[in-house]
Amino acid sequence: MVSKLYDNPEIWRIDVPLPENPLRNLNSYVVRSNGHALVIDTGFNRSECHEALWEGLRELEVDLGRTELFLTHLHSDHCGLVQGFVDRGCQVYMSEVDYEYLRNSREKGSWGYMEQWFGREGFPDEEMKLQASGNQARLYAPKEMFPAAKMKNGDTVHVGDAELLCISTPGHTPGHVVLYMPDGQILFSGDHILFDITPNISVWRNVPHSLADYMESLRKVKKLPIRLTLPAHRKNDGDVYERIDAILEHHRIRLEEIRRAVVEEPGTDAYTVASKITWSMRGKKWKDFPPNQKWFAMGETLAHLYWLVDAGYVKRWEEDGKARYQAAEAFCAIAI
Ligand SMILES: [Zn+2]
Repeated sequence: MVSKLYDNPEIWRIDVPLPENPLRNLNSYVVRSNGHALVIDTGFNRSECHEALWEGLRELEVDLGRTELFLTHLHSDHCGLVQGFVDRGCQVYMSEVDYEYLRNSREKGSWGYMEQWFGREGFPDEEMKLQASGNQARLYAPKEMFPAAKMKNGDTVHVGDAELLCISTPGHTPGHVVLYMPDGQILFSGDHILFDITPNISVWRNVPHSLADYMESLRKVKKLPIRLTLPAHRKNDGDVYERIDAILEHHRIRLEEIRRAVVEEPGTDAYTVASKITWSMRGKKWKDFPPNQKWFAMGETLAHLYWLVDAGYVKRWEEDGKARYQAAEAFCAIAI
């Protein structure tokens, strides 16, 4: 299903379904000018996404000889179908940071590293095995690594007469990039800013402060003049500046909630903390969460715990190979 969102340059949205995924859909955007097209993000490498994306591109009659693909970040629901574009000779753009991250993690097998890490933080072995088999990011990733032009903050992409600026917004992934069109003041926000769900902020190998990075990236985008925001999932209604403030406040409240859980149980582990947090899972109790949702919740909890440790609100230490947490003695309201 395609819908037109803007006239000059033409901006279209292809609605790509994400079956059995709480995100529900991916918005793949197509910018067209003077016979050229830029596709932004693809959907998972699975048949339902493939059909919707390519049906949309056929409906729009894009000339694949003059089409390029931009990937906002390394997650499989954004880059899963990249190979179809590579096979047709289309130029692919991706941030240098996420490209190298993806390449390294595929070569070195980062999942084993993450499992050991989460295990040290209290994630139970039996749930680890269950989450591995149901993790869509693993199941529907691109089949192989692909060639791409590696983009940096401030680089531009041209589509016919239209110019889009790459702005680094690390946080949701280490090299997440939003695209900004100064003409029209349009922001393709990827997963940096979503409107009716909050982007997942997790922990990453060799990224010490992902939540601090994310909040800084939100404040960076808030300085831009923006008239239209086009997020990668679900709806795009709402005021982007209000939404940024609401997301920042969401994280401040979650930091308070996590600190409270640590105060209540000195010496606790991250998994226990995660089980006590209010997650929006349609009323489901923690014990009924699917294992891969527990995995995401664990990553999110760790990002917040590490922020609290960095800021001095919480202490972390390791005992017999397991991480433990305790609130620092004197504390006041959390300032982000
Ligand atoms: Zn994402």
